Amino acid sequence: MKSGNAVLSGYGTTIFEVMSRLADQHKAVNLGQGFPDGNGPADLVAAAATYLAEGWNQYPPMPGLPVLRQAVAAHNQRFYGLDVDWARQTLVTSGATEALAACLFGLLEPGDEVVLFQPLYDSYVPIIRRAGAVPRFVSLRAPGWDVDPAELRAAFGPRTKLVLLNNPQNPIGKVWQADELALLADLVQAHDAIALCDEVYEHLVFDGARHRPLMALPGLAERTLRIGSAGKSFSLTGWKVGYVTGPADLLPPVVKAHQFLTFTTPPNLQHAVALGLGKDDAYFQGLASGMQAGRDRLTAGLQAAGFTVLPAAGTYFLTVDLRASGFNTLDTDFCQRLTVEAGVAAIPISAFYEVDAPRHLIRFCYCKKPATLDEAVRRLKAWRDLDE
Ligand code: PMP
Ligand code: GLN
Repeated sequence: MKSGNAVLSGYGTTIFEVMSRLADQHKAVNLGQGFPDGNGPADLVAAAATYLAEGWNQYPPMPGLPVLRQAVAAHNQRFYGLDVDWARQTLVTSGATEALAACLFGLLEPGDEVVLFQPLYDSYVPIIRRAGAVPRFVSLRAPGWDVDPAELRAAFGPRTKLVLLNNPQNPIGKVWQADELALLADLVQAHDAIALCDEVYEHLVFDGARHRPLMALPGLAERTLRIGSAGKSFSLTGWKVGYVTGPADLLPPVVKAHQFLTFTTPPNLQHAVALGLGKDDAYFQGLASGMQAGRDRLTAGLQAAGFTVLPAAGTYFLTVDLRASGFNTLDTDFCQRLTVEAGVAAIPISAFYEVDAPRHLIRFCYCKKPATLDEAVRRLKAWRDLDE
């Protein structure tokens, strides 16, 4: 028998799917895979239903509906002062996941090197490898997750084609600081590289901070592609609507990859997301402040249950240090036990590493209703009390 592609055959089912199915099986509170437990903004859901009923059920234009591409361009101008020509510099995709694949397949040649930061989102490396390119890892380290400038410089070389930055960063909740972005911008320019920025959590930055896209730094607009996701910005993760903004001379190969991957994205959802991007400031502020309240609620609850929580400045996620919390178990075993015994699912941080994974950290998501977070904390406390 001939076998499947060697790169992809080497990977198992993603940790998000594995933990969600285990959570279902054990009726656990699922603080693993990051998805909100509400139904998203009612006006967007109603708009999507109306567009379906009104007949938006056939192929829309391959790069996306003009109304959504115009909304993406306007959103870039409104939040970050970026001048974007919607017709030449935007692309609608089926989620950020497809956007990432289209950018990587569209831009990379076999043998190109890609600089990446661990811990990282799990779809990056399989696609980079499938494109024949070579990942070069820079590891950030707990508890501060700061960038080591020497390590970062050393990751760049003559074969560097691209750097993939996730800011704000899943799974650690890191928001990249101005000096870190400036150093990265210098290195990208010095090596004539392309920056691919996964900014799906752009509207989930807390404590009064603002998201800073790398693309907005001087000289970076002409070499940066920026990816957003309606799933994260409108709490509708099942919709899988993403968008790419990039320079007019870099986008065409990405559009080619998109046309052969999915070709297009459901038109009713595109219409509704266009409405969403035009929502007023109060909506976006409320999204961030609601998520910040979730972070604070879960942090306080976990601390009261005896867990050591690392700071998180953005995203859906926070990290618990198992060692500091009095456990010597491996993160993967711990998450399995926690789901089965305590009835709360989490994700082992080692799943976000390709090399040199720490084994004492786990991720919880807090993009949930207060009652869901409280129930998780109640179960965790009861489980810890049993041990004592
Ligand atoms: N990038 C990161 C960092 C993510 O956390 C996610 C999770 N959903 C994605 C990309 C994928 O987004 P989408 O659901 O829009 O494909
Ligand atoms: N982004 C989500 C997370 O990190 C998961 C998305 C997925 O399941 N692929 O939890």
